[in-house]
Order: sequence, then C-alpha cells, then structure tokens
Amino acid sequence: MIPDVSERLKKIPPYLFASIDRLKREAIKAGKDIIDLGVGDPDTPTPQNVIDRLLQAAKNPAHHRYALDQGMPLLRIAISRWYEKRFGVVLDPDKEILPLIGSKEGIAHIPLAFINPNDEVLVPDPCYPPYKSGTILAEGKVRIMSLLESNAFLPDINEVKKQGLNRVKMMFLNYPNNPTGAVADKVFFEEVVEFAIKNNILVCHDAAYSEIAFDGYKPVSFLSIPNAKEIGVEFHSLSKTCNMSGWRIGWVCGNSKAILALGRVKSNIDSGIFQAIQEAGIEALNIPDGFLKNLNLMYQERRDVLVEGLKQIGWNVKKQKATFYVWIPVPPGYTSSEMSTTLLEKANIVVAPGTGFGPNGEGYIRIALTVDKNRIKEAVERIARIK
Ligand SMILES: *Cc1c(COP(=O)(O)O)cnc(C)c1O
Repeated sequence: MIPDVSERLKKIPPYLFASIDRLKREAIKAGKDIIDLGVGDPDTPTPQNVIDRLLQAAKNPAHHRYALDQGMPLLRIAISRWYEKRFGVVLDPDKEILPLIGSKEGIAHIPLAFINPNDEVLVPDPCYPPYKSGTILAEGKVRIMSLLESNAFLPDINEVKKQGLNRVKMMFLNYPNNPTGAVADKVFFEEVVEFAIKNNILVCHDAAYSEIAFDGYKPVSFLSIPNAKEIGVEFHSLSKTCNMSGWRIGWVCGNSKAILALGRVKSNIDSGIFQAIQEAGIEALNIPDGFLKNLNLMYQERRDVLVEGLKQIGWNVKKQKATFYVWIPVPPGYTSSEMSTTLLEKANIVVAPGTGFGPNGEGYIRIALTVDKNRIKEAVERIARIK
C-alpha cells in the first residue's frame, strides 16, 4: 500500500465543479445537445502566422534540446518591446522578465519562493483557484479579501489594513477579473502600491485578460503605477490574448528579486518552454492590432446577445468592460449550485456556479462567452422557456 497523500494536498479545497462535470458527462452520454458556457477557453483558432512560425521553428534541431531556464533572449526582448508599446512601461529583458509555461504555472509556484509555513497570503474571493492552491501547497495560509458588488468587486484595502499584517508576505490581485469581469483603475492600484510598500508585501498581479476589453476600454498595467516595481510583479499570458491556451506560454515581469527567486524555484522543477513555441510566442507578440480588434468585437457581440437577451427575460445582468465572462446574480429563490443544476437539467446549458471560485461567489453564476453567438442566442431562448 502506498502512503497517504500529504497534509498539504489534503488541504486543497475540493473541486467544486465536480458535480456539474458529472451531470454534464451524463447528459452528453445521453445524447443531449449541451451548450457549454462553463469553461473559459478561447474557441477560435491561433492565428495562422503563429502556427506557421511553430512549424518552421520545429524543424530546427537546435530547438530540440533543453531550453534555457530564463527563456530565449529574443523572446524576452520581444516581451519588453510589447510592454513598452502597450503600457509605456520599460522592463529590463535580462532581469525583469521571466517566460513561463503558461502563467498558471508561475502563479502556482511563486509562493514556494516566499512563503514559510504559516505565512499568509492575501487572496481575493471569488478568484481563479491557483492563488489559493499555490499558497496551500507552499504551506502558507490563505487570507481572503472579499470582492463584493458593493465595492465594484475590488478588495477594500482599508478593511485589509485593520487586520494584523505581521505574517502577510504576498497578495494576489487579478484585473480585469475572472470570474467577475470587473476592472481596476490607476487610483486603486496606487492605493495597493502604497499599502504594499508600507507593509513589505509582494503584490502578484494577474493580467491574463489585459487585452480582452470592450467599448473602447483599455485595461492598465499594475506596473505602470510609480514605484510598483519595488513591490510587485505582473503575470501575462498568450492564452487569451492570442488564442493559445493549449500552447502553454506566458510570462511574469516586474521586481527583479522576485523574478530571480521564482526562476530559482522553477530551475529545480521544469526545464523551460519548447524553443519552437517561444519563437511562435515572438510572432504572437508582433501580431498586427487588427487581430485583437476583431477578437474583441467578436466577444463584445456575444456579450451583447447574452446580456440583452437575459435582460429581456427579466434577469439582472450588467455588461462587463473586459474579460469574456459575464458574472450574473442568480434569480431569487436559487443558490448558485441550484441554478447551475437547473440550467443543465432543464435547458442543457452548462455554466460555472459562483461558489466554484470561493464562498463569496454564492448568489452568482459565471457564463463564458467562448461559444458562437448563435449558440448564445439559442441558450437565451432555452433559458426563456424554463418553467
Ligand atoms: C486563463 C487564466 C490565466 C491564464 O493561464 P495560462 O496558464 O497562461 O493559460 C491566468 N489567470 C487567470 C485569471 C485566467 O483566467
């Protein structure tokens, strides 16, 4: 018999989509026409020039060997150029940028670089699950910052300040936000920078959705705030920006000591990103603006079909400015989980129950705009027919 799993692993919160996943599999097996609005994974293909670059680069035998831990210099230079053009932030490609095997990997590993047993990490709730699980795997303690609609789904920093902060080493933030679709402005980030400098807290800002935004809105970079680099890093990903979720490529940038520390952890765990994928990443960073413009117009149109359709049948839904998620208060009389089950059983629609992202997700469901607009229209019609 093998030993019992570690205490660390036992402490990881249960996978809350498990029951929805089971119902979904059963429904598909029974031949039902399921509309899956649960998973947030881009449904349109990676641009052809990125694929072509991979095919070319894959033929180069030099790329068949181990990659450098800190990524190819040309990729880091391409990231620094993109950053300066997009955010006006200057980064040193040698010390302030570290490519990742998808940003999730870096997010989940960074607590290993800074957290001792029982150190605390400030984590928004609801949230993308790796902030919590990465903290727990490093034997840290999760300290929740509630994201409430009454505060525009931003953590209340004044509230956080009132608590003892002696053991707090890190803070995760994520704007534009998954699952709420909320955005943060410079004033909020300035408050965070001041707070973090005063309390020696490393800020880890997840900007995976920085390029998915609508109605002319442009998300800001945390690193564009004066002094942010003193206490923070920002995670980016090509998964959503360039429809590359399966490719596994992202990066972290900002504070050089944090970059060095995460690099040390990673050099003991992985051996870098396939260099042909790094070359394709360079291509993705140089993609003409028209690609993102069209991608965002597509998500925006889907958002409008969903939100306007649901409003017509009396749901209380707002249009989000960014991300491909719509965070929807469930109609009175249902919990998140009951609503999700009802949608699946009565309309063959899969959505994510808000509680899958933490206790503050109760009362909401999350719908991902990663299916064709005609299917979204059909989903609204099915919801309208539920009795
Ligand atoms: C999709 C997503 C990511 C991206 O993860 P990758 O590992 O780069 O594919 C990161 N953070 C959030 C909040 C996400 O939703």
